[in-house]
Formats: sequence, C-alpha cells, structure tokens
Amino acid sequence: MFNLILFGPPGSGKGTQSEKLIEKYGLMHLATGNILREEIANKTALGLSAKGYMDRGELVPDEVVIGMIRSAIENNPGIRGFLFDGFPRTVAQSVALDNLLAENDAQIDLVLALQVSEDELIDRLINRGKTSGRSDDVNEKIIRARIGEYENKTSPVAGHYSKSDKVVKVKGEGTIDDIFDQLSKEIDHKQS
Ligand code: AMP
Repeated sequence: MFNLILFGPPGSGKGTQSEKLIEKYGLMHLATGNILREEIANKTALGLSAKGYMDRGELVPDEVVIGMIRSAIENNPGIRGFLFDGFPRTVAQSVALDNLLAENDAQIDLVLALQVSEDELIDRLINRGKTSGRSDDVNEKIIRARIGEYENKTSPVAGHYSKSDKVVKVKGEGTIDDIFDQLSKEIDHKQS
C-alpha cells in the first residue's frame, strides 16, 4: 500500500490537487470534509451532530471523524492506497490513523505539506465562497476561525510525522499544474 496525507491549511489547494493525484496514482480519496458535507446533505444523525461545529468553523470531535475513517479503511480491503485530505487534523487523529493502518500492516508513507501565506488563503477562501455554496467560506470571521483551528490543533500533526521524517514541504502558490508537478515529483521520489 502507498498512503499519502495531503496536508495544509484551509484554502491551500488540497481538494484541487487531490483530484489530480488520485487519478495519476490510483489512490482512493478520503476527504473528511466532503464525507461530512454528504452526511449533512443526507440529514443523517452524524451529519446533524457535525453541522454546528462546521458552521462555526470549529473542528468536529475526534471520535466522529476517526469512526468515519475506520469504516472507510475496513470497507476497502486490498486497495492500492489512500490519499487522506483534511484528515488527520489533530495529533489524536494521527495516532488513531497510524493504529488503524498498522492493523492492516500499512503506514503513512508520505506527508506533503502545502505552504501558502495567510493573506493568500483568506483571498482564495472568500473567492471560493462566491461559487462553492459552502456557508463556511462566505464569512471572514468563520474563515479566520478555521485558520485558527488549523494553527492551534492541526499544525502539530506535521510535528508528529516529522519525527519519522515523513513530511515534505511543497510551495502551494503558483499555477495548479506547477504545484501538481512538484507534488508528483515528491511521490515519484518516495516510490522509486
Ligand atoms: P474541509 O472541507 O476539509 O475544509 O472541512 C470542512 C469542515 O469539516 C472543517 O472546518 C471541520 O469543521 C470539519 N472537518 C473536516 N475534516 C475534519 C477532521 N479531520 N477533524 C475535525 N473536523 C473536520
């Protein structure tokens, strides 16, 4: 298996790059934000419990997202690998993910961390809000809350994986194709 985390703050381009990477490398895309929005659209109990947190720009409790990822891993045996997008977002989620993968004799192989300045993130998210239909992209206060959650709770995830030398920083500003080429280069290097 080859398991990749595409890491970075909200608006760093994880979703856009993930779509291209899963196609090129035959990985399964596991994006917790997308799964949660689907649960909300389907009005499930899980979706209803997550909605308040998401509307406020706060992280959903760890046990909720860890349960979602556990089901996805268990339901997809024999897969080539997963691309985790927007997960893990806390150190507790990273530890749970490492344990879930270890149960399947697998591990995180690479963490690609997209680097984008805060001003650029806010510009991108406000622009995305004009078309994304995402209520958490429209209001600058909520956007700042999401970036705050990232800085306080999510950025330590990079520290967790740097202990095992798995983190590679990639510049997330420039054209979509240039960033994709840089990400691909790092994956090819890791797989060679
Ligand atoms: P995203 O689509 O990745 O920007 O996620 C949108 C929102 O979903 C976040 O602001 C959180 O409220 C929630 N969310 C997504 N992934 C996670 C996660 N791994 N842990 C906690 N909350 C999450």
